[in-house]
Amino acid sequence: MTTFDLPLPTRGGTDLVPTTDSPQTRKDFSSDQEVRWCPGCGDYAVLAAVQGFLPELGLRRENIVFVSGIGCSSRFPYYLDTYGLHSIHGRAPAIATGLATAREDLSVWVVTGDGDALSIGGNHLIHALRRNVNMTILLFNNRIYGLTKGQYSPTSEVGKVTKSTPVGSVDHPFNPISLALGAEATFVARTVDSDRKHLTEVLRAAAAHRGTSLVEIYQNCPIFNDDVFASLKDPETAPNVIIPLNHGEPIRFGTPDADGSRPHGLFRDPATGAVDIRPVTVANESDVLVHDVHAEDPSIAFAISRLTSFGEMTRAPIGIFRQVDRPTYDDQIRAQVAHETERGVGNLQDLIDGNDHWTIG
Ligand code: SF4
Repeated sequence: MTTFDLPLPTRGGTDLVPTTDSPQTRKDFSSDQEVRWCPGCGDYAVLAAVQGFLPELGLRRENIVFVSGIGCSSRFPYYLDTYGLHSIHGRAPAIATGLATAREDLSVWVVTGDGDALSIGGNHLIHALRRNVNMTILLFNNRIYGLTKGQYSPTSEVGKVTKSTPVGSVDHPFNPISLALGAEATFVARTVDSDRKHLTEVLRAAAAHRGTSLVEIYQNCPIFNDDVFASLKDPETAPNVIIPLNHGEPIRFGTPDADGSRPHGLFRDPATGAVDIRPVTVANESDVLVHDVHAEDPSIAFAISRLTSFGEMTRAPIGIFRQVDRPTYDDQIRAQVAHETERGVGNLQDLIDGNDHWTIG
C-alpha cells in the first residue's frame, strides 16, 4: 500500500499545548504497566504503532486522553503514559464526547472493540459519528468476544460456531465501514494490525482530521478466532484480496504484471460516467474508478465498502474511504456557550424555577 496524499488540517482545539521539551519518543508514551494480552494478540502491534506515532503529535502527554470501554482492547489506556479512562461497556464515545466538548485543549481518542462499539455501544457510536465530535475512534475488529472467552460478536459471520452459537450464528453481521458511512461520518478508514506502515499512515491522517475519525483495525485474536484475516496477510493471496484505496489513484488490485500494473480494478462506465462498483479485469485504465476521499456524497464510498467479504475474507478494501469537512459538534457547542456568555451569565436556579414546572400532590 502506498502513502496517502492528503492535506492534514490542524487537529484538536486551537489551544492544544505543544511540547516544549526535547523531542519525544515511543518510550515517553509507554507506561510501566505489565501488558496482559495473550501471546501473539494483534493488540500488541496496534499498541506499538500508537506508541510510536504519538510523539508525532508534538503534544504534551497530559493533553492526550484515551477513553476505552470494556473488552481486551479496552485495556489500552493502561499501557500508555497519557491520561486515560477505562470506562463502562459501550459508553466510551459518550464520555469522550463530553470530554472533547468541555476540554478543547485535549486530543481525545477512543479505543473500542467490535462487541463494545457495535453491540453494547452501537447507539453511542452512531451518534458520535453523526455529530462529528472532535475525536479519533480506534475500532479493533477481531469478529469475536475475546475477553469473555469466545462468544460470537456483531461482526462474526453467519454460521459462526462459538460457545454462544453452538450450531452456528444466524445473525447478519455489521460491516463497520458501511455503518459509519451510513451515519455520514466525516472520516472513515480501515487498516490491518500487522501492517505497521499502513496503520501508522492511517493514524496520522485520522489524528489530523477535525471531527470524528473512525478507524476500523482488523485485529487477530489468536486464541478465539485465529487467522480470520490470514488471507490479507499471506503474500500469495493478499494482492487479490486487498483492494487498496489511495486518494487520487485508480482503484486497482491483483497480483502485479511484469510491468507492475495490477490486472483488476473497480469499473467505471466510460460512456455514462456512472459508477458500477464491481471488480473487473482492466481493459482500459480510463474505465477504472479513481478514488476520491473528499467526495461530498458518501454513496460511492458506501458502495466500495460493500465489496468487503462477510464470511471468509476473499475481498477487503483497505485504506481511507472518506475524509470530508463538516462543522464539529464541540466547536458549535463552544460557540453557543461563548455567545450566551456574552449576553450575560445565566442563573441555574432561575432555569429550574422557570415557568414550566408543576407541583405534585
Ligand atoms: Fe487478544 Fe484474543 Fe487474548 Fe483478547 S482473547 S487478549 S483479543 S488474543
